[in-house]
Amino acid sequence: MISFEKASFAYGDRPVLTGVTQTLEPGGFYFLTGPSGSGKTTFLKLCTLAEIPQSGSARYFGEEAGTLDREGIARMRQRMGVVHQDCQFLDHLPLRRNIALPLELAGRRKPEHEGDIDDLMAWVGLSDRAEALPPELSGGERQRAALARAVILSPDILIADEPTGNIDKDMGRRILALLIELNRLGRTVLIATHDLELIRAAKAEISARVLRIAGGCITQAGAEL
Ligand code: ATP
Repeated sequence: MISFEKASFAYGDRPVLTGVTQTLEPGGFYFLTGPSGSGKTTFLKLCTLAEIPQSGSARYFGEEAGTLDREGIARMRQRMGVVHQDCQFLDHLPLRRNIALPLELAGRRKPEHEGDIDDLMAWVGLSDRAEALPPELSGGERQRAALARAVILSPDILIADEPTGNIDKDMGRRILALLIELNRLGRTVLIATHDLELIRAAKAEISARVLRIAGGCITQAGAEL
């Protein structure tokens, strides 16, 4: 689905990833852990094509990054749902409109989709907040709304950066349950997190793989988690 071989990335003269070889298999559930500043967000940026490795190989849905033009990158991104660390909503638009925005931007918001949007809002438990503005939402509501927006185009892979950061444990578990449900429906899931308890809770339910990033490389964590 997405794979890297000896991929490296630096911000200017500051190397962050120095030789990442990793494949994300279709249907897999992956956690990405590592110390603060180790490059988790940077790796997610490579996965979402927000950045491209400066050396090595990166393939997205079978296509090599170097062969993709702007249109090709947009085509790949349509197959990815992304939840950023800070969620990023348009604060002047009601929540329902924010969640439906990817459909609008793709020119695919049609009257027949309104029921799907309602279903998605119910799935994340936000039906009663449809007309709220993003600044009026709690942290957990924002995370669930960001998740709904990320999956509205039915992506093949969901990529989330600390989706349970800054929210309480119960809400974190609720978000994890949604992510597990998505995975059981066949979606690949990649989550960057510091939360080892969350990883343990997930592993009790599904066969999640834990990737550890340190020293510019990614290794697969063993059974210690
Ligand atoms: P955290 O757990 O604290 O969110 P992280 O593992 O996600 O950290 P990254 O955000 O990927 O780490 O950052 C990796 C390194 O790259 C850090 O040293 C950071 O300061 C640096 N860095 C990140 N973004 C930039 C940027 N745009 N320009 C320069 N350096 C950057």
